[in-house]
Amino acid sequence: MLFSEIVGQDAIKAQLLQSVQHNRIAHAQLFSGKQGVGKLPLALAYAQYICCEHRTATDACGVCPSCRKMAKLAHPDLHFVFPIVKTDKKSICDQYVEEFREAVLANPYLTVDDWLSSLAEEKQGMIYTEESNEIIRKLNFKTYEAPYKVMIIWMPEKMHNTCANKLLKILEEPSYDTVIVMVSDNPDLLLATIRSRVQNIAVPPIEVAPMVRQLKSVYSLADAEAAHVAHLSLGSYSAAQRLVSQSEKDQWNLSQFILLMRFAWKSDHEGLRSVVETIEKKGRESAKNFLAYVQYMIRENFILNLHISELNYMTKEELEFSRKFSIFINERNVEEITYELQKAEQEIEQNVNRKIVLFDMALKFTMLLKK
Ligand SMILES: [Zn+2]
Repeated sequence: MLFSEIVGQDAIKAQLLQSVQHNRIAHAQLFSGKQGVGKLPLALAYAQYICCEHRTATDACGVCPSCRKMAKLAHPDLHFVFPIVKTDKKSICDQYVEEFREAVLANPYLTVDDWLSSLAEEKQGMIYTEESNEIIRKLNFKTYEAPYKVMIIWMPEKMHNTCANKLLKILEEPSYDTVIVMVSDNPDLLLATIRSRVQNIAVPPIEVAPMVRQLKSVYSLADAEAAHVAHLSLGSYSAAQRLVSQSEKDQWNLSQFILLMRFAWKSDHEGLRSVVETIEKKGRESAKNFLAYVQYMIRENFILNLHISELNYMTKEELEFSRKFSIFINERNVEEITYELQKAEQEIEQNVNRKIVLFDMALKFTMLLKK
């Protein structure tokens, strides 16, 4: 990863560049800050810069053999430690390193929950005791080709205590060619003895202007929308990614909601069946997300019908449909419709057949909308 690929954070970049240029590379560092501000991307760009054969004043060259390996996260002197989900056969990071590289390359701003839920349904994961021998072994290697071996420890707060204590020993006497960069969302959860032995780099929230630029270029958002997302994200690019993806989901949800309500009003059973099938096919989480969205739309339409427009939070597209639709949502049916939606959500959560649950609910709407 290059510094130029990182969203904002110019001050931190300058600080890191200078430390390398002035030969003041600390052997143990902690990049700490809120989730999504770019700590892992900064650690990766820093590692690449340290090992680059032709670095410039502002970045790694990006083309030397070292940079090419770093860009694939597959440099022999770059080591990763990260939380994993333990199974009968897997208890150390190396057994997951391919998946980790792939996930980080796809999104260097990925969150620890994103990562762990890609490994297993329940997101419990940690850096297990078994990892400590691996860490010691790797740090005892001679460097292969770079002047330093760099170990990035992502989420050290997830380390088992035994492992953390062994790491502490290494931090007391690091070898001259070792750079350990810890990347933490919650540094307060680290052993105080570890915190006191590392140089802390506090990474602040991403500034608004570079966040807006990034959102416009990556997601082709319009000015106002990019500014809105940047504002809500509070300087976390992971939060911004989540917001954009929810708004994409909502566009789909709105299209299905419109069809569902039109067919329900016309008592068109074939139409309803096709909408139900479309929703069903997208899976359980998506169906739950849709039902939550419909509850929101019903609430907003009821409010719109009461003409309390200042309480409305709908988007332009939602409002466009709701201006005509809202007259059908009133005090005679709003509670029952909401009840049906919540019931369906619950049953889907309990793994009742989605198609049956959704179709049953849709049929109720054909009557409720006429009240
Ligand atoms: Zn290079």
